[in-house]
This record gives sequence, C-alpha cells and structure tokens, in this order.
Amino acid sequence: MTALGSLLQGAVPFAVRLHREFRGVTVREGMLIQGPSGWGEFSPFEDYDDQAAGRWLGGAIEAAYGTWPDAKRSEIRVNAILPAVLPQVARELAEQAAVRDGCTTIKVKITGDDAADEARVAAVREALDSVLGYGVGLIRIDANACWTSEQAISSLKRLAAYGLEYVEQPVASREDLRSVRAAVDVPIAVDESIRTDRGGDPRALSELAEIADIAIIKPYPVGGVQRAIDVAELVKLPVVVSSSMDSSVGICASLALAAALDVDRACGLGTGALLATDVVSRPLVPTAGVMRVQRLAPDADALAEARQLLAPERVQHWHERISRAWEAGSSEAWRKVITSSG
Ligand SMILES: [Mg+2]
Repeated sequence: MTALGSLLQGAVPFAVRLHREFRGVTVREGMLIQGPSGWGEFSPFEDYDDQAAGRWLGGAIEAAYGTWPDAKRSEIRVNAILPAVLPQVARELAEQAAVRDGCTTIKVKITGDDAADEARVAAVREALDSVLGYGVGLIRIDANACWTSEQAISSLKRLAAYGLEYVEQPVASREDLRSVRAAVDVPIAVDESIRTDRGGDPRALSELAEIADIAIIKPYPVGGVQRAIDVAELVKLPVVVSSSMDSSVGICASLALAAALDVDRACGLGTGALLATDVVSRPLVPTAGVMRVQRLAPDADALAEARQLLAPERVQHWHERISRAWEAGSSEAWRKVITSSG
C-alpha cells in the first residue's frame, strides 16, 4: 500500500455542529487521522489553499505518526471565547464562562460594526466586573484584520475605556500594524500575520517583534507542534497558544504546545464551549479556568454520529482535499514517517 493509502485507511471524515455561527460557519468539518501515536485532525478552513492545507496535514501526520515534545506542566489556563453575539447574549455567556467555567479572561470577536462591537465589549466588561469584581476579569479582542488602520485607531481609543489586555490582528499588513501600534496604548497581538504574511518565512517571523507585542500561535495551521515551537523561537514574543475551532481531539495538539512552551497568559483553548456536538462524549472544556494536558481518541458513537453529519459529496470533498494537501505538502518526508511506522 502507498503511504497516502495507509494514511487514508486511518482517516475518518467528520462534521461537528456549532451553537452559533463562527467565522462564517455553523458546522466544522474535517478528517480525523489515526496512526500509531494517536489521533490527529486535518480540518483546514475552506478558504485555505492546498499549500496551507498541506501545512495542516503536516500537523495531523505529526499527531498520528510522530511525537510531541515533553510537557512542562499538566494544566493550561485558558480564556473563554465570545462570538459576535448581541449584548444580552454576550452578558450571559460571559457570566457563564466566569462562574461555571472559571475563566477570568474572555476573548471577544470584533466585526467592524462600531456600535455593536462597543455594546458587546461593554456587556462583557459589565458581566465580568459584576461576578469577579471591578477590573479583575481580562478582556482581549480579536478583529481578524476587519479594520482599516484609521478605524482601528479610533475604535481602539474608544474600546480601551473598557480595559483591554490586547487586540488580536487589528489590521492585516505590517505597515498598518506599525502605524496602529504607534497610535494606541493597547498591546497588539499578531495571529494571521504569522501564517499568511510571507508564509512563515523565518526572517518575516523574526521581524514581527518590531510591530507586535504578543504572538498567537496555533499548531495545526503552522504545520504541527514542533513547527509551532520553532515559530515561537523565531518570533521572540510572549506567546498565547490557540486552537483553530478544532474538535476536542484537535485541541489536544494545542494543549501539548502550550504545555511545552513557557506561556504566562491564558491560552485560547476554551473553544469547546462553541461546539454543540463533538467527536468525544465528554468534550474538552475548562474547569476552574484550566484544561488538563491530555490526548484524546474519539468515542466510537460520537465519531459515527459526526461521520453521519457529512453528506456523501462532502466526504468525497475531504478525500480530494487531503490528497491535494498531500501533493502540495512535504509528501516525501511524510512517506518516510508513515512507511517506517508500519
Ligand atoms: Mg485570531
């Protein structure tokens, strides 16, 4: 059997439902890949090209066939994440995150609609202050580069009144990041810049320290846990590890990364609360604000249901996608890893 053949033999396409729309989708799809080391997740977003999907596949192959670095700790402090919801819902979700899940840091999505964004951030601040005490809870916002630099500067000056830990990717380009950072006091975190801007070339990564204060690093999109550690070394910025709206099986790679790095801030791994269904029967969600470092395998029943959620043409789509990602990625190196494991 070819190496790609053995990879596909251990691959199960799946879909999980979200409680509400996030990043434009209500269903998260991908493939879980089983190998001798455990399960990995291949779930590049639809707008990722074959090359970007190839990096993701590298992360999935590492999880299934390779090794993750040793953990320096057994628990990771995490933030809760709040989609672009109405203020009343934002208030309820923020209270729930703080009281039920013990998360004192909340990441709020920003859409560029100034009034709605401010109302959402204000509602979260009010909720956190009321349950935790004045100014105790931390709010970080993620604009996913939806602002122009002028909008970013005026919005951040307004939103800073609610107390912001940092803003994630206010604008897309390095020039714009530089001008926004010069004009506002809110610390700037880069997320998309790490992957899309010159594709993670080492020189480009090392220059990020000139235009940002914090680096958001997600293992699968950069090519796996080991590659993410290399990225963290190159950027020389404080790191916040995040997941990519992964299933509970996928989140384990982010837990492994956060456990291997020296991370002080809450990590963006509390995304399990956004999932209405999962590939495990007991989804990975924070307790008392932390998540335990662990490796999960899918549960047979949950995986069968997740497999059922996918229409036949989507199953076909994922088989084609993984084959294209294989061709676009480091297929020669992967072939060796996979054949030597058999
Ligand atoms: Mg982000």
